[in-house]
Amino acid sequence: MVEEEWSLSDFEIGKFIGEGKFGKVYIAREKKSGYIVALKVIFKRKLEKYKFHSHLRREIEIQHSLYHPNVLRLFAWFHDDTRIFLVLEYAAQGELYKLLKNLHHFPEKRAATYVGSLARALAYCHEKHVIHRDIKPENLLLDFEGRLKIADFGWAVQSSAKRQTMCGTLDYLAPEMVEKKEHDHAVDNWTIGVLCYEFLYGVPPFEADGQYDTYRRIVKVDLVFPSFPFVSLEAKDLISKLLVKDSSKRLSVQKILEHPWIVNNVDPSGYCKE
Ligand code: ATP
Ligand code: MG
Repeated sequence: MVEEEWSLSDFEIGKFIGEGKFGKVYIAREKKSGYIVALKVIFKRKLEKYKFHSHLRREIEIQHSLYHPNVLRLFAWFHDDTRIFLVLEYAAQGELYKLLKNLHHFPEKRAATYVGSLARALAYCHEKHVIHRDIKPENLLLDFEGRLKIADFGWAVQSSAKRQTMCGTLDYLAPEMVEKKEHDHAVDNWTIGVLCYEFLYGVPPFEADGQYDTYRRIVKVDLVFPSFPFVSLEAKDLISKLLVKDSSKRLSVQKILEHPWIVNNVDPSGYCKE
């Protein structure tokens, strides 16, 4: 799909879904096909203010080139004088984060199904030499059936720079990232470990009152498994093999998918019914 092929007049704009730092998201229908999408409207003025404009085109092209059932599709994009429009796959069940807040923590089958989806999506991205670097519950959406979709792909580079200056959360970052060392795709494997813990316990493993304390807990890998809620030994084994300081010793995405906890708990449909 070439950007020039599309314009705002091809879409009927529906309900407002939500607002991010750079713009607004609406449900929309492509007039010819009737296909429902999410239309993200980014104001160029806001991008310039944050000096993100130079990266944007490349980042959009990365997401546009990814085709995987657990990576939110970017179907097309176009722009006018003031705005950039991203035509995105519509994730009808919204943010995984909200579901986690409602349920407090997930049962093991649901958690394993999400972790399996994440691992498959990241295996695919790593094959294409794409590192997300900004995987966190807010960037995980659910489609109409509840299948996990990684969103905000490619915003990673900007987001992490932003985070260091804007006091965002460090919770999902690997030790080599918080210490500003060189890093590779193994940063995403660490993040799978953090998310697996958070899915099962409801809070990320290195949570602390201040940024500095979180930083210290991450670099020390101060990993504690509370006695409540009950979590199986197999799940703790997987987490312990991902939250490893030496990035070369972390479980690979392939090994995550072969881990007994994943094999025994993943729902093969890719989503959880109960
Ligand atoms: P950020 O600016 O850091 O990305 P954000 O993720 O809150 O923050 P947006 O990505 O602009 O901001 O999204 C705004 C809202 O729209 C969020 O509630 C998000 O869950 C929702 N949303 C974004 N994309 C989609 C989509 N493809 N399908 C359904 N809801 C979406
Ligand atoms: Mg977002």
